[in-house]
Amino acid sequence: MDQSGTEKFKSTCSYCGVGCGVIVEKNAKGQIEVTGDESHPANKGMLCSKGMNLHYTVSDHSDRLLYPQMRWARNQPRRRVDWDTALDRAAAVFGTFINKYGPDSVGFYVSGQCLTEEYYTVNKLAKGFVGTNNIDTNSRLCMSSAVAGYKKSLGEDSPPISYDDIELANCFFITGANPAWCHPILFRRIEAHKEKHPDVKVIVADPRETQSCSIADLHLQLNPGTDTVLYHAIARCLIENDRIDESFIENHTDGFEDLRAQVMSRSLEQAAKTCGLEVREIKQVARWIGDANGFISMWAMGLNQSVDGTDKNLALINLSLITGQIGKPGAGPFSLTGQPNAMGGREVGGMANLLSAHRDLSNPEHRQEVADLWNVNSVPAEPGYSATEMFDALRNGNMKAIWVICTNPVVSLPNSAMVEEALKKAKFVIVQDISQDSETVDYADLVLPAAGYLEKEGTMTNSDRRISYLNKVVEAPGEALPDAEILCRFARKMGYEGFDFDSAEEIFDEHCKLTKGTNIDISGLSHEYLKQNGTVQWPFPEGAVEGTRRLFLDHQFYTANGRAQIHTQSKKLPKRRDEDRPLVLTTGRIRDQWHTMTRTGKVSRLNQHIDEPYIEIHPEDARKHGIGNEDVVEVINDRGAVRVRAVLSEAIKPGVVFIPMHWGKILQKDFPRANNLTSDRVDPVSKEPDFKFSTVEVSKFEKE
Ligand code: SF4
Repeated sequence: MDQSGTEKFKSTCSYCGVGCGVIVEKNAKGQIEVTGDESHPANKGMLCSKGMNLHYTVSDHSDRLLYPQMRWARNQPRRRVDWDTALDRAAAVFGTFINKYGPDSVGFYVSGQCLTEEYYTVNKLAKGFVGTNNIDTNSRLCMSSAVAGYKKSLGEDSPPISYDDIELANCFFITGANPAWCHPILFRRIEAHKEKHPDVKVIVADPRETQSCSIADLHLQLNPGTDTVLYHAIARCLIENDRIDESFIENHTDGFEDLRAQVMSRSLEQAAKTCGLEVREIKQVARWIGDANGFISMWAMGLNQSVDGTDKNLALINLSLITGQIGKPGAGPFSLTGQPNAMGGREVGGMANLLSAHRDLSNPEHRQEVADLWNVNSVPAEPGYSATEMFDALRNGNMKAIWVICTNPVVSLPNSAMVEEALKKAKFVIVQDISQDSETVDYADLVLPAAGYLEKEGTMTNSDRRISYLNKVVEAPGEALPDAEILCRFARKMGYEGFDFDSAEEIFDEHCKLTKGTNIDISGLSHEYLKQNGTVQWPFPEGAVEGTRRLFLDHQFYTANGRAQIHTQSKKLPKRRDEDRPLVLTTGRIRDQWHTMTRTGKVSRLNQHIDEPYIEIHPEDARKHGIGNEDVVEVINDRGAVRVRAVLSEAIKPGVVFIPMHWGKILQKDFPRANNLTSDRVDPVSKEPDFKFSTVEVSKFEKE
């Protein structure tokens, strides 16, 4: 604290997976300011528009949930209750369902915005004590295909590189991502690197000409859903032109010959036609990748959110494997996480098919290791319901109760009508959140007010495996409590032992202990270490003096035989259920909003960038359907309808339309929710839904 009474704290931005460091200053009046942390390796002092406005969302309590609320029957209003009454009811209801219908009759649906300690606690609670793997997360919606891709190819969910590799690479393939808007500081680093080294090549593949194309040497405006065909065609060119690393393939990979046979079976002309590209464009990309000293591929939801998201990941990772562009500085396949702690959730096994510290749920020894540490008999072997399956299970009565923590599925899950039906049919819904403006709160029988950003301590891990400690800076308003404390209080009401933690630090210590001996060993870490020494990239075993910047430098992968696995993919593109509608709808984020706007929607500066939902449509398509710029458009398909204003733009490929995913009921005009239209079909391996390919019809909306 300085003489004026101002205190300084270090923390991390709570929006995207870049994980920028921030300095929070709290003055004597309790007012806070946030600036970029110049010593932080991710952002080196820079912040994007969302990060710069973080403090507004902390200081504004106008929408906050302040005390527990409960209703005794569905047709009654919720009333304020004290914490004991609320958690007694939660324990009584969950206990009754578990006894009567078994542990799989209940489930927890959480968030990549939970701190690692919270993620750990809810996983221990569900998997170790309730006895169900029905614990899934909204991270399922953004990166589970990347998890599956890394596991199948590298043996574990292990992003091999570090942000520092950006400045060492000379070819970037940004595909299925718009980092200029969704990972802005990372994008600025690529931009600055290219400014300094104009020979650095940047390739962007996207059906839309996004802001990320501003630095692209080549924009591949491919047809939606054709990514695998494109990567195979690039692989073909690399092989044909002898731009592969035969020694690396021979010594460190399996499966190359199958891939060669597969990619050779489709001509470049056929591939280019399928993708809506020119053969010369594909050849050019292959030349740049093949000539690169350091090749980095970067991807996000554009690949992951697909019925063949795992295949897309594998086909892209193949490009790094066949060129030997992994396990060396400035090179590697790099999945960008959407949320600030999606990676931390993966570390604790925070999905229905995962186990703590990257252990394998199907391995009895791994399950027993976890059970022993939790002091329980066993951990269930069968994967639980994934995100969309959980809501299906509520709809068909297989699950009776759900506990939603720190997420707003009524707006963010696909096929909103299905989600709303599920919540109506559920016998009991608990919503634990910070904001009463979350649309999901409307469906809650029990509402539990949670402490928000800077109101609690804990850790998060960003896209490049960097763990940071977040200080508690201010008190939570009203009776709100940290999520981990709510869960521990509930666990004790259920009579479970092992939830008597006195602090978030004790929870973190237990998590670190559970990682010992695994490939993500962080047994050398503690809150104290992070406070004293700053951020650390895992692994960081006991005795380590620094984190691990890069993985696989010895070219030993985490597979059973130590070799990376090159996979082939189905040659046919997946069949879509509703192909008969004329336009393909793709959804995504805009620069200044975060998810369902429960925080960024409160900041007037952020609302100035784009102040209402819209549909981006090519002028040719607009003309065909009699739509003019700024007309209100009705967009329909079998699942629902959306009414939004038209933005005519040549930046989008003809035949494709785009609607941002943020708007729900907040600031709503008519029906702005993009997920009224999106498909709940999922990738069969990763169970990630396909937000990037639904077909729709559009017409000008005429008021009656
Ligand atoms: Fe926050 Fe991401 Fe912006 Fe960094 S880039 S300030 S982490 S939103």
